[in-house]
Amino acid sequence: MSIPDNLQQILTDLPENVRLVAVSKYHPKETIEEAYQAGQRIFGESRIQEMTAKYESLPKDIEWHFIGHLQTNKIKYIIPYVSMIHGIDSYYLLNETNDQAVKVGGNIVNVLLQIHIAQEETKFGFNQDECREMLSSDKWKKLTGIRICGMMGMASNTNCEEQIRHEFGSLRKFFDEIKTTYFPTQSSFCELSMGMSHDYHIAIEAGSTLIRIGNKIFGNRE
Ligand SMILES: *Cc1c(COP(=O)(O)O)cnc(C)c1O
Repeated sequence: MSIPDNLQQILTDLPENVRLVAVSKYHPKETIEEAYQAGQRIFGESRIQEMTAKYESLPKDIEWHFIGHLQTNKIKYIIPYVSMIHGIDSYYLLNETNDQAVKVGGNIVNVLLQIHIAQEETKFGFNQDECREMLSSDKWKKLTGIRICGMMGMASNTNCEEQIRHEFGSLRKFFDEIKTTYFPTQSSFCELSMGMSHDYHIAIEAGSTLIRIGNKIFGNRE
């Protein structure tokens, strides 16, 4: 199927409160243009230099989401245009992002806290206690260059739907706890980024608001 067909297929059964991040990492700008022509405006990238090059050569009404692991020395390059950074998984990264945002000036940077929910050790993210600990010390409240908009997580890479459902369910529950405890009056704390090509239906059932889909739109990456 073509890129427009793939997009259409995903969008048809997407609930109103769920947005699609088209993960275009490793795909050339022509591929993104095809999706753009079909109406897609939110794209996700995982490498800073690649995202910056694409930003420079593509239409400026694209919303760029950074979904990879951040190298702190390069954050400054994406600050002027990035719409959301999904993978903040330490106070150190949060603080560095804030410093760079304050230095660049102008934009408050929207970020999501990445929570480790998978069985694999290799996936990044806070565990729940680390996250509670960070939020219960008030340091983060002084960071005026960033806005914490919610959470992100990746389920285990498994065919076992029960396992995936359990992991997304636990992230949803944790999101609700953190929202109630630390962000009760902040309407901007509302995003739950979970779900990829193979598990996004399960993620939506569990309450995802942002699904990050690559392969199912663009085909396999090299
Ligand atoms: C690559 C990537 C995706 C997209 O995965 P697909 O299986 O291609 O849908 C989603 N989220 C993150 C964090 C990724 O790195």
